[in-house]
Amino acid sequence: MLITAVESSVVSLPFSMGGPHPGSAGQPWDRLEILLIRVETEDGLVGWGEAFGHAATAATKAALDSIVAPLVVGRDAGDIEALTRRVLHGVHLLGRNGPFVYAFSGIEIALWDLLGKRTGQPLHRLLGGGVPGPLDAYASLLSYGGDLGLVARNTAEARAQGYRHVKLHELTRDAVLAAQAAAPDAAVMLDVNCAWTPPVARGMAAGLAQDGLLWLEEPVWPPEDAAGLASLRRYGIPLSAGENTAGLFGFRALMEAGAIDIAQPSVTKIGGIGEMRRVITLGQAHGVEVVPHSPYFGPGFIATLHLAAALIERPLIEVLWLEMEANPFDPWVRARDGKLAVPAGPGLGCDPDPGILARYTRAPPTRTGAAKT
Ligand SMILES: [Mg+2]
Repeated sequence: MLITAVESSVVSLPFSMGGPHPGSAGQPWDRLEILLIRVETEDGLVGWGEAFGHAATAATKAALDSIVAPLVVGRDAGDIEALTRRVLHGVHLLGRNGPFVYAFSGIEIALWDLLGKRTGQPLHRLLGGGVPGPLDAYASLLSYGGDLGLVARNTAEARAQGYRHVKLHELTRDAVLAAQAAAPDAAVMLDVNCAWTPPVARGMAAGLAQDGLLWLEEPVWPPEDAAGLASLRRYGIPLSAGENTAGLFGFRALMEAGAIDIAQPSVTKIGGIGEMRRVITLGQAHGVEVVPHSPYFGPGFIATLHLAAALIERPLIEVLWLEMEANPFDPWVRARDGKLAVPAGPGLGCDPDPGILARYTRAPPTRTGAAKT
């Protein structure tokens, strides 16, 4: 079945986050954005995907509309692996990690949604999974810029809402201790977003070694410094990374260097569901667990649920700790009592609510391909 059109649009959701809104990559960050992708086939079936996202939204959308969507229109929607090779080879000179690969990731997710709808199977079943129970979620707190009062208050609130795992985006041991004191029976993780050179990171890891962190995430700058990351393993804190890693071969380099205990591929960045599946398999061969990166709120998040349910032995799903007034993919994008349900319908199992979508979509979609009939 041929792809006849690709549409992209930006859904912009107001949110509150338990503290002042920080910037993101130099931009004010006061809206959650879903870069939503809609793929149509010649029989009128529609699949939904999501590409990364956040401060990259405008750049990814431009990459999608100008280069990536024209490469897929007219191609067979069911030949996902071949299309992946064709498109990623077609754009490799433009970057192996960044807007072009993010854009394709969103299309690839939509192709799996289409495949599931066409065959009447939910995505987790297509990936070889059975009937999934609810998945454990972790509360991924946003950065409060070192405000220990906000760290403590939001950690306690997340625990009270049923989360047993809380991740901080802070830079100090004091923040870890504040979170642990606020929720003594919760597991705490620390994500520093590549803040430190290896020598600084080693000093910080030595200080944190006895604190019982479930993991320390992206401690080293730059993220591709596998040897620098591996030099922290001696402190005994499980190390995680991968949201900035380029594809299967990027993960192979990290794993072969013995740099990580936990791999964190991101389905809206890495190339989509097929590349996620390959990274999960690679992790199995290296004794590395996979805890996906999923700070988003649309089809990419839903795809992560299906992938984790089908392929990961101990699923733990990242949920950004914030409050949206509404989301077109409700209720599937919200945890209840620290758990997430997995949709059982065909494909991703949840098309967007048209009314909510219309209310929060910024501008008419950009369409590539045949005119709408
Ligand atoms: Mg992170």
